Amino acid sequence: SYRKGGYHAVRVGDPFAAGRYIAQRKLGWGHFSTVWLAYDTQTSKYVALKIQKSAEQFAEAALHEIEVLLSITNADPSNSKCVVRLIDHFKHSGPNGQHLCMVLEFLGDSLLRLIRYRRYKGLELNKVKEICKCVLIALDYLHRELGIIHTDLKPENILLISTINPAKDPIKSALTPILKRPEGGTLNGKPAMNIVEKRLKRTARRASMGRETDLEPEKCMDGIDLRCKVVDFGNACWADKPFAEEIQTRQYRAPEVILVSGYSFPADMWSFACTAFELATGDMMFAPKGGKGFSEDEDHLALMMELLGKMPKKIAIGGARSKDYFDRHGDLKRIRRLKLRPVHRVLVDKYKFSESDAREFVGFLSPLLDFAPEKRPTAQQCLQHPWLNLNSSHQKEMNVQSNIDVRMGNLKIN
Ligand code: ATP
Ligand code: MG
Ligand code: MG
Repeated sequence: SYRKGGYHAVRVGDPFAAGRYIAQRKLGWGHFSTVWLAYDTQTSKYVALKIQKSAEQFAEAALHEIEVLLSITNADPSNSKCVVRLIDHFKHSGPNGQHLCMVLEFLGDSLLRLIRYRRYKGLELNKVKEICKCVLIALDYLHRELGIIHTDLKPENILLISTINPAKDPIKSALTPILKRPEGGTLNGKPAMNIVEKRLKRTARRASMGRETDLEPEKCMDGIDLRCKVVDFGNACWADKPFAEEIQTRQYRAPEVILVSGYSFPADMWSFACTAFELATGDMMFAPKGGKGFSEDEDHLALMMELLGKMPKKIAIGGARSKDYFDRHGDLKRIRRLKLRPVHRVLVDKYKFSESDAREFVGFLSPLLDFAPEKRPTAQQCLQHPWLNLNSSHQKEMNVQSNIDVRMGNLKIN
């Protein structure tokens, strides 16, 4: 991928935007870009520098992402909406072509890393609630105020707010005295840039040997206020001009997307529910696989119906793709036998939730997993749900009654 049209190779210490940003270490990468921790010499802060591949289709995608990010950032001057902020953007020429670069606020680990770090055991329910609140604030903002559908919500695209304090960080102390010198300045008779590079390499090496500078997930779990932000707006679209038929990462894909019956904001709410389940249990809610005589899509629909009950016939046969999966009675053509396992039972039997924890959580989740997208609660409505403000460890004593039905346990498959 490091060839013409592809990624831009970065070395620690490389300057960007006429020296304003200095690359420090790689934070991550995706299909479109590599993302680097960089030091912003103008503000003395860390930033995340997203360097897009250079080929035309990637440049176009970056322009779209910048447009979305600009509207997100501009409409939230107080920075209270739990979405990543765009600080700057520019072009950078390298041997592989011209790369669009986005300067984003620097955030911490993704929730996926947090789940892995917890060895797929799931987070404590009170932490799950804190995260859910942040994500719902972000979704409410995107949906109601901006008319934007994220279309790729999942743990990987939710990042914790970094707890690194730059003032206490060795990288800054290595950089500051050198960078204050004029461009091309020398330090002890050697070019300053070389020395910066050496020091940064040493810091990066220490970090890779586990002597930190990196955020430790466990540390940020100690705080009571666990906060995070939604990132990766490369696939986001305005609800009135959706551009892709197939959206979302497989496991978080809503039924209306699989059936091609039209999607809007509720598709994000489905992904949100899948994400909340995964945070609480450590396992994906749906992990479909193709098999002998059936496709991944069909397995996915079967898994949904096993967990949530049978899909109403009208919905099952109502999509442009319905005929590929369902017969005219609304039964799956190629997967005839479904093993019903209501969410409540799964939480209690497999994940050892207490009956009350499971009941409360299902009360929150199940309306979001309605097969009818228009019946799913909005992010704004979800924010009002009592589950979010219920302290799980005290809930037996508190005996709080959820006012939303536990419907899943009652569903039957004909
Ligand atoms: P995708 O294929 O997922 O669309 P992409 O090329 O659009 O990938 P992103 O998902 O935006 O790239 O970023 C890639 C990775 O870089 C993320 O998974 C995350 O680990 C890291 N990252 C992105 N933005 C930030 C940020 N603001 N702060 C810290 N790390 C970040
Ligand atoms: Mg991503
Ligand atoms: Mg992306």
